Amino acid sequence: MEFIDLKARYRRTEPRIRARLDAVLEHGRFIMGPEVAELEAELARFSGAKHCVSCSSGTDALLMALMAWGVGPGDAVFLPAFSFFATGEAPALLGATPVLVDIDPATFNMDASALEKAVEAVAKRDPSIYPLPAPARERTLKPRAVIPVDLFGQSADYDALLAVADKHDLSVLEDAAQSFGAEYRGRKTCALGCHIAATSFFPAKPLGCFGDGGAAFTESDETAETLRSIRAHGKGDDKYDNVRIGLNGRLDTLQAAILLANLEVFPEEVEARQRVAARYAENLSNMEGIVAPAARADRRSVWAQYTARVTGGRRDAVAAGMKARGVPTNIYYPTPMHLLAAFAHLGYAPEDMPKAHAASGEVLSLPFHPYMTEDEVGIVAAALRGAVKEAGR
Ligand SMILES: *Cc1c(COP(=O)(O)O)cnc(C)c1O
Repeated sequence: MEFIDLKARYRRTEPRIRARLDAVLEHGRFIMGPEVAELEAELARFSGAKHCVSCSSGTDALLMALMAWGVGPGDAVFLPAFSFFATGEAPALLGATPVLVDIDPATFNMDASALEKAVEAVAKRDPSIYPLPAPARERTLKPRAVIPVDLFGQSADYDALLAVADKHDLSVLEDAAQSFGAEYRGRKTCALGCHIAATSFFPAKPLGCFGDGGAAFTESDETAETLRSIRAHGKGDDKYDNVRIGLNGRLDTLQAAILLANLEVFPEEVEARQRVAARYAENLSNMEGIVAPAARADRRSVWAQYTARVTGGRRDAVAAGMKARGVPTNIYYPTPMHLLAAFAHLGYAPEDMPKAHAASGEVLSLPFHPYMTEDEVGIVAAALRGAVKEAGR
């Protein structure tokens, strides 16, 4: 069994992909060829966002967004303590200070009431209000931006988060790297009212390509122009008129062509993902020692990962039991952001983010992809039941 079976999609899309790739090989415009603009128009249409600016990765989409706002030293950028490192890496690369915010343990996403406290703590330079990183204790930083993450494919609670952000005048960057195609209160991610949204087309993400790729989304004409400039070395009216410091951040035409083919089957895959998740929910409900992931009624996840919790300190034993039964699992993420070696200089203690810390010790992601059969889900569930029993002895 595969953890994510990317070949199952390829078996379906191969003719479309080969035709698309042939077209690019024929016209030869490998950098910013016509497929790039075509893809951007399709992604904007799909999500409902006004502008889509494709780029070289999800990480670069986050970085370009923060660069467009001029985020840098002296700025506090709030982000969840439980996410992939890139969410915190982007502000850190620009010299801004990542200020971590604990999660809602049910959804693994940023807790809006914790964000409110963290902003107040930074503004008043008072770690008794909320745990602060060392740079925010040493001097008063400017609360500048927040990066909520739609972890595992389910959107964060944007009505609550945007209310806090509005009140404190924070720019909001949605990290939708795992949630392209998901919905929150009837609207699609990347068009939920955040100033900019960033997504990733890394192969294992819900909409993946065959390499690295990403995109930023915005409603603002001006921001879209700035993002396009940053993507191409800070170009002005032409490419040798450089008006700002930028990146080489373009999406390859070949990857855009692959994404156009994959996008054709993507809506059906999003539906199939719901069926697989429902099947898992049936199998995992009332399973001793396992907490199935919470699917909020006002959201529709794309299930980038199907991540359960293993309670009772048995996660690692259960993961070993799954391996012994031939079922692949993964741990996203074994170390919460506040305890990563790269962020040691922030000086956080384990107990500063108790919910993120607890999650990192309990999460176990199970095999999941839209082409999984009911039987396969049943095999995973049976293995899990066996592994939990064995671990409990
Ligand atoms: C994958 C991911 C990223 C980075 O995307 P890349 O395309 O790999 O650079 C950022 N944030 C989160 C939450 C991710 O899962």
